[in-house]
Amino acid sequence: MSAEEINVIWLQGQGCTGCTVSLTGSTHPSLADLLTGYLPQAANINLAFHQTIMLPHGEKAIDVLRSAANGELDPFVLVLEGAIPNEELAKKMGGFWCLVGEDEGKPMTINDWILKLSPRAAAAVAVGTCACYGGIPHGTPNPTGARGLLDFLGRDWRSKLNLPVICVPGCPAQGEHVAETLTHLVLTARGFLPVPELDEHNRPKFIFEKTAHENCPRAGTFAEGEFSEKFGEPYCMGLLGCKGPIAHCDVPRRGFVEGVGGCPTIGSICIGCTEPEFPDPPFSP
Ligand code: SF4
Ligand code: SF4
Repeated sequence: MSAEEINVIWLQGQGCTGCTVSLTGSTHPSLADLLTGYLPQAANINLAFHQTIMLPHGEKAIDVLRSAANGELDPFVLVLEGAIPNEELAKKMGGFWCLVGEDEGKPMTINDWILKLSPRAAAAVAVGTCACYGGIPHGTPNPTGARGLLDFLGRDWRSKLNLPVICVPGCPAQGEHVAETLTHLVLTARGFLPVPELDEHNRPKFIFEKTAHENCPRAGTFAEGEFSEKFGEPYCMGLLGCKGPIAHCDVPRRGFVEGVGGCPTIGSICIGCTEPEFPDPPFSP
């Protein structure tokens, strides 16, 4: 017997689409694995709406959102990529920051769609630091009043599965972090896995519990007191401004695509892109 179909509604607010690019680079599992049922327990996932990847466009695309709002696509996971602007600020200037089609002749902002869809969502996942906590659009002086889904819906918000907003930060989010979290939620919804344990910033602990420093292949040189004095040297980059000791992330161990890459692993300092304060202090250069 095949499992009930789970739809994914992926909205994009103030972002650069980097998290979508990351997801398409995920390999374990890949986006194709998820959408073609390669993992039997996680089969029947339908990416019903995604502005960048979906085939329908125009009215047909917006019809998907209308159907989801009417309950025709239950159960669905609501995913947000990008931050949510303050449309009241835009209104004062006679415009909008972030429109996604129309409904009943009324222009719909990303805020409108989130408010319309979130009460029906089985789970809500914020992908990337912009969607989680505001990220770069939220950085000082934050001219658009940008904020993340956790703040927009509130820490007390609960989905139909009784889950809070789940945050998968990163700038961009690492592709497998996104794919694994979505897969975990599908397996939770189907009774195969317990609810993922979250940390104080609603990040899944199985990914974000340890710091980049704890996961860093240069940590041995840190312990030996060997520090790089300029980029290109193979030692700990603490003296060059690395934020690894205060950033929660497994990318230095896991890599970015197929085990390759990973910030300090390949000679770039950690800039703390998974933390709520990013890109403001203590994560500004
Ligand atoms: S390079 Fe950064 S993350 Fe790696 S050991 Fe040094 S301080 Fe820690
Ligand atoms: S190592 Fe640091 S900069 Fe790199 S992805 Fe992780 S938190 Fe972001």
